[in-house]
Amino acid sequence: MKRRTFFNLSAAAGLGMILPRSVSNASEINPRGDSDNPTLEKPIVISTWEHGMVANEAAWKQLIEGGSALDAVETGVRVTESDPNNLSVGIGGLPDRDGNVTLDACIMNHKHQCGAVAYLQDIENPISVARKVMEETPHVMLVGAGAKQFALEKGFVETELLTHGTKRLWMKWQEGQNPDRPPINHENHDTIGMLAMDKEGNLSGACTTSGWAYKLPGRVGDSPIIGAGLFVDNEVGAACATGLGEAVIRIAGSSIIVELMRQGHHPEKACEMAVKRIIKTHKDTSNLQVGFIAMNKKGDVGGYSVYSGFNYAVRNKDINMLVNTEFDLDLN
Ligand code: ASP
Repeated sequence: MKRRTFFNLSAAAGLGMILPRSVSNASEINPRGDSDNPTLEKPIVISTWEHGMVANEAAWKQLIEGGSALDAVETGVRVTESDPNNLSVGIGGLPDRDGNVTLDACIMNHKHQCGAVAYLQDIENPISVARKVMEETPHVMLVGAGAKQFALEKGFVETELLTHGTKRLWMKWQEGQNPDRPPINHENHDTIGMLAMDKEGNLSGACTTSGWAYKLPGRVGDSPIIGAGLFVDNEVGAACATGLGEAVIRIAGSSIIVELMRQGHHPEKACEMAVKRIIKTHKDTSNLQVGFIAMNKKGDVGGYSVYSGFNYAVRNKDINMLVNTEFDLDLN
């Protein structure tokens, strides 16, 4: 048995299974795309972390009704953004060092059209603002006050994103920390990245986050950066990232994975190669958690992470499950 927890896709077929992070009696599948790791029939949606299960469900409804992959990913990640109990996305996301919640998001469709917002404050659903940037401006990215002004002009409402719970956590963090160097750990990276292929076979992706908890004011991570947090090429496939954004940006992570898939690598192998490049480019691998997920045009999906503990949710007509990825460094 390899280090990864494996799931038997056929055993879950049709059961709408929601599998926990570790399943002791799961059987092994081959991550490289042979008969044990079947190519999935479209439509398909995959997304990062456990919160992806609920988000996938919303996206899936769009996809089976014939909706576009673009509508599906926007609808899906909005669920996570609007969940006040999620500490790393949208409302209820942990703030920066000074107590401000600042959100980053981007979206990309099958026509190489994309939109992004960064350092956006007081707006619950940055992904929908990013879509408006894509569809209603000649630009790709708006940031900060300009992004907020744009959102308000487009009818988005101002919302307090710092909840009582996150304010308490932030105050507690302040008590014992050096405010110039926010600590990170492997648990506070929980961005949602989502990739979908619709009935037409078109791909889209979305990525949204409140970023690194207690980050320095002004910090922007990989999540709103096309090519880093997300990349879609409808001829080849799509990829997105979660984890330490600085490390993802340094290797243009999602774009590299799409190029590796173009060269013929299975999505999981492409994610693994990107992870290895990250590890190689960092002397200090402590706190270096990064996870990638990817999907190719055939319907193969995969993920890989630096450390153990990363998983992604997969949904198509046959399966509805959480998959623990393989990884290079074991936390246990
Ligand atoms: N990638 C995000 C960032 O660096 C954080 C995360 O995935 O949790 O902003």
